[in-house]
Amino acid sequence: MIKINENYLKLRASYLFTDIARRVSAYQEAHPDNKIIKLGIGDVTRPLPRACISAFHSAVDEMASEATFKGYGPEQGYAFLREKIVEFDFSPRNAGINANEIFISDGSKCDTGNIIEILSDDCSVAVPDPVYPVYVDTNVMAGRTGAWKDGRYEGLLYLESTKENGFVPEPPAEKADLVYLCFPNNPTGASATRSQLEAWVEYAHKNRALILFDAAYVAFIRDDSIPQSIYEIDGAREVAIEFRSFSKTAGFTGTRCAFTVIPEECAAYTSTGERIPLHQLWNRRHSTKFNGVSYPVQRAAEAIYSPEGRKQTRELSDYYLANAETIREKMMHIGYKCYGGDNSPYIWVECGMDSWDFFDMLLNKAEVVTTPGSGFGKCGAGYVRISAFNDLDKVKEALDRIEVAVK
Ligand SMILES: *Cc1c(COP(=O)(O)O)cnc(C)c1O
Repeated sequence: MIKINENYLKLRASYLFTDIARRVSAYQEAHPDNKIIKLGIGDVTRPLPRACISAFHSAVDEMASEATFKGYGPEQGYAFLREKIVEFDFSPRNAGINANEIFISDGSKCDTGNIIEILSDDCSVAVPDPVYPVYVDTNVMAGRTGAWKDGRYEGLLYLESTKENGFVPEPPAEKADLVYLCFPNNPTGASATRSQLEAWVEYAHKNRALILFDAAYVAFIRDDSIPQSIYEIDGAREVAIEFRSFSKTAGFTGTRCAFTVIPEECAAYTSTGERIPLHQLWNRRHSTKFNGVSYPVQRAAEAIYSPEGRKQTRELSDYYLANAETIREKMMHIGYKCYGGDNSPYIWVECGMDSWDFFDMLLNKAEVVTTPGSGFGKCGAGYVRISAFNDLDKVKEALDRIEVAVK
């Protein structure tokens, strides 16, 4: 008899964004002519930078000629892209990474989800609360948690991110083998200082733990004192894996390209205490189960680092950051406490009531879609996330409608 992976039955029936979509489409059906403005889901709206488009086109043309055609590419990704990443993303920050420590992939969602496959099934896991749901659900699927009970999974260590700690949890007294950190954070918009990250690296060394550092929103950092990479911290190379994505940086959510960094010194242990480099394991996994990113997409990603590409991608994040500032200023003017929105495209709004009630009120009275904070975890209760990923005129209209609705 074929049996299922019963861990899947522990997953909560409905995913946050499915729930939101259901409420939005119910409202739209009842009011077919009204224009709903979406400041909910974390997807970009601006087109790809022109430099990427033209590199993408030429690479497609190369595939049309026998002399320049490309078949299967190198398993870790093309060196031309990995070398640009090192030159522009890591070397200027004194975060010593070399090109063979980088694995090109089709997304950080998949990488953060798949990486746990090379770690033992019984490792203990600490996740932030509120949290990007992928970190939690993939560990549930892998059997690293108990049942869903009172809004949390049994067996996970939740790192509470509250306004009291500025939404940056300190390392806990308890031991965890695996720790997820995401800065600038989705959903709170918080970023971590150097000393906060140093405390986490120290924790990882002390407990022989591994940090999974998700830097998907690094392109939005404008304060130069904020570390952009975990490898700016001494000792991080031994204890941290970093995930980066071109999705939010350069509008690649539909094009798909990202990368994962595993330094050569980064290791985990066998049951007898032998240190094994994780680079070796992930390389094996990546080359066995992942088919790589297409050549034209890697050329399009490389173009992000050209002089025009750098200027154009900076303009993209500047655009969204200006939206974020508009949102934060207006929401504060209306009377809400807001967090994030600088160095981040997300504004975390303390709504003074239940998250879903506030969400429904904004949907019904302002026809604006936000994301209820409680959907990201217990500590998100009483907040909504507003996303700056939209056109400025839509953002302004949404804010005007919200102002009228809450009066
Ligand atoms: C958007 C996002 C990503 C990027 O995922 P991709 O699969 O690369 O598109 C990663 N982590 C977080 C927290 C995100 O919000």
